[in-house]
Amino acid sequence: MSLYDGVIDWGIKRAQNSKMIALGFHSVIDGLVKVDSQKIGNLDIPIPRDLSEIPDSIKCAEDFWKGLIFSFVNGSALQLMIGSKEVYEWIMKTFGTGTLRLGGTSANMAKGLVPFPFEKILVYVYPLKKEIATLFPNSKNLFVVGKKGLDHPINAYDGEGIDAIHWIFEFSEGQSITINGKTYTCPRSNRFIASWNPVNSKLEVRDPFKSYVIDHAEEISHFLVSGFHIMQDIYPDGETIEDRIDELLKFIKAVKDKNSKMKFHLEFASIRRDRVRKAVEEKLFSRFDSLGLNEVELSWIARDMGYDGKDILNLDVERISRVISKIMKGNLSRVHFHALGFYLLALRNYDLESQKKALAFASLAAAQRAMDGEINLERFKYMLDVPEKYDYKEWEEKGIHFVLFPTKVVPYPKITVGLGDTISSLGFVLG
Ligand code: ADP
Repeated sequence: MSLYDGVIDWGIKRAQNSKMIALGFHSVIDGLVKVDSQKIGNLDIPIPRDLSEIPDSIKCAEDFWKGLIFSFVNGSALQLMIGSKEVYEWIMKTFGTGTLRLGGTSANMAKGLVPFPFEKILVYVYPLKKEIATLFPNSKNLFVVGKKGLDHPINAYDGEGIDAIHWIFEFSEGQSITINGKTYTCPRSNRFIASWNPVNSKLEVRDPFKSYVIDHAEEISHFLVSGFHIMQDIYPDGETIEDRIDELLKFIKAVKDKNSKMKFHLEFASIRRDRVRKAVEEKLFSRFDSLGLNEVELSWIARDMGYDGKDILNLDVERISRVISKIMKGNLSRVHFHALGFYLLALRNYDLESQKKALAFASLAAAQRAMDGEINLERFKYMLDVPEKYDYKEWEEKGIHFVLFPTKVVPYPKITVGLGDTISSLGFVLG
C-alpha cells in the first residue's frame, strides 16, 4: 500500500473535526519591487563579496545598497532589517511601496490553512490597518480578534496606513547593474528583502488577542508561533531578547494553565542574529511541543552546538537525526525537518499513523501549491502521480522514533516561497 493512499479524504475529515487553531505573531505586508537597473544608474559603492562585509541591519542608504548589490552580484537571497526611520522614509521615497502582498509566517500559514475545512483559523495581526486587512483571503473560517470579538480582518480593522513593510526587491538572471563604472550581471534570479517592522520586532502579544486567547484557551487545540527572525539582541529602550522571550513564556504559561492539552509549535525561520537564535534555542525549544525547520536553519543550530553545519546542508540524514536527538529535551517531542524531496520527522509518544498521513497531506499540498501558485484542494489528486525520489525509512534511536518520509517534488514550480510554512503548519495541525 502506498504512503499516500486515502490521505486526501483522511485530511479533509481530520480538518472538519478540528478545533480552533491560533497563529502568531508575524503577519506583515510585503512590497514587491522589480528592480529597474536603468533607474539606479551608476553606484559608487564597494562590492561586498562575503556575508561578513554586510551590516547586520540597514542604518543608512549605503547599508541598503550594500545588501542589494550583494544579492544581485552573487545571486543569493538576503534579508536585512531596516534600523532607522530615516532610511525607511528614504526607501519609501525612492521606490514606493511596490505591489502589496500578504506576507509573514503567520499570515502565510493562515492563507495556506483556510482553503481546508478547518473550523476556525485565528491569526494575530498587529497593527490591524485597512491595508493589511484587505489582503487576507475572504474565507469564512478566518478570524482575528477585533473590538467585538472574533471577526474577519476586513470587518475588524482600525484605521489606515502602512506601519510595517517587508520590501522584496526582485531581480532576474541576466539583468545588469553598473557599479563604480563597471557592469555586473545577475547570475541567478533572486531577491533582497529589507524589512521595516519596529512595532513587531519585540514580538509583543497585545490585547485584545492576548486576553481572548487566555479566556478561550479551552476552544483552541493548536498554537503555531513564529516571528523570532525579526527580533533584535537589545532594543533602544534597553530591553533584551531574553527579556522579550521571558514575556512570551509568561503568555504561553497563562494559556497552558487554562488548557494544558493545547499543543505549541515553533516555526524557526531564518534567525540570522546569533544572540536571538541562541536565546530561542536555549529558552524556547524545551518549552514547545513541536518544532519546524529546513536544512539551512538546522545547520545554524548545529553550528551553535559546536557541530559542522555542512553535513546538514548536504542532507546527511544520520547527522540530521543526531542533531535533532540532541535538541529534543523537555516538552519538545516532535521535530519536523523539511528539505527538497523528503521530510525527517522525529517523535516521542505520538500516534505514528496519523503523523505519517499528515506528512503525506502536507507533501501533496506543497507540491500542488508549487505547481499552481495557490492551494486548490480539487487538484491534489493529480499530485498522487508525481513520483517520489527517496525510499521510506523508519527507525528508533534512544527512545526517539524517526521517519524519513519521501515527498512529491514538481519539476517546474510556479512558486517556491512560503512552501515551508504550508508544510510545517499542515503537518502539525493534522498530525
Ligand atoms: P520558505 O521559507 O520559502 O517556505 P523553506 O526552505 O522553508 O522555504 O521550504 C521550502 C520547502 O518547499 C522545501 O523544503 C521543499 O520541501 C518544498 N519544495 C520546494 N520546491 C518544491 C517543489 N518544486 N515541489 C514540491 N515541494 C517543493
